[in-house]
Amino acid sequence: MRIDVVTIFPDLVAGPLGTSIMGRAVESGAVEFAVHDLREHGIGRHRSVDDEPYGGGAGMVMRPEPLFGAVEPLRAAGAHVVLMDPAGERLDDALARELAERPHLALLCGRYEGYDDRIRSVVDQEVSIGDYVLTGGELPALVVIDAVVRLVPGVIQEASHRGDSFASGLLEYPQYTRPETYRDLSVPPVLLSGHHGEVDAWRRREALRRTYERRPDLLDHVELDEADRTFLRSLGFDG
Ligand code: SAM
Repeated sequence: MRIDVVTIFPDLVAGPLGTSIMGRAVESGAVEFAVHDLREHGIGRHRSVDDEPYGGGAGMVMRPEPLFGAVEPLRAAGAHVVLMDPAGERLDDALARELAERPHLALLCGRYEGYDDRIRSVVDQEVSIGDYVLTGGELPALVVIDAVVRLVPGVIQEASHRGDSFASGLLEYPQYTRPETYRDLSVPPVLLSGHHGEVDAWRRREALRRTYERRPDLLDHVELDEADRTFLRSLGFDG
């Protein structure tokens, strides 16, 4: 997979892409990143990329020429162009999986009050990371990249992300490691039993419990069997 990022702050993006699992994904050849400085398409001696909004108002708006100049070659190279924008489709597990299927993504990071709206005519998708506003699209782009790259085959063990929260539709069950007892808090005995069947059943029940207690809305979209329903009813679930 190849991911291009277009930003006025390339250094802000480049660091995390070379670190930890992202860095290893590059070394293994599973992913290739390229970070482009939007100012290379900037206007005039100062490589300007913004101007005042037509109609007046606070702040500056990103001009269309640099944006089109950066995006068009990436489109021509076959990239699926994603605009980072609070008005976009909200990122979730399903969208991350969809994006992870694409061989080539290009993420466009906004700044200031956002983009001249005409850029929307040459992007394929608009993505938001949640209902709040950050100062720029670089952190949202890194969030998208991290969520997507860990799903690319070979980056982490598939079994590891298949059990994660949301992948099965449920939140993940509680996890423990050594020591068995810490400050009089003990690991549930079933996890020490070595009985895989009982461990799996406990994990399923605890995932159901956590989801019911914290995100009952998720249960509307999960396939529940009779044992799941019986357990959930014992907690008060009436679905
Ligand atoms: N005036 C814009 C609005 O109200 O929607 C907000 C602009 S924001 C200060 C600057 C840039 O940060 C946006 O163009 C976008 O690229 C990025 N950004 C901020 N919050 C975001 C979010 N929740 N999801 C994705 N991108 C975001």
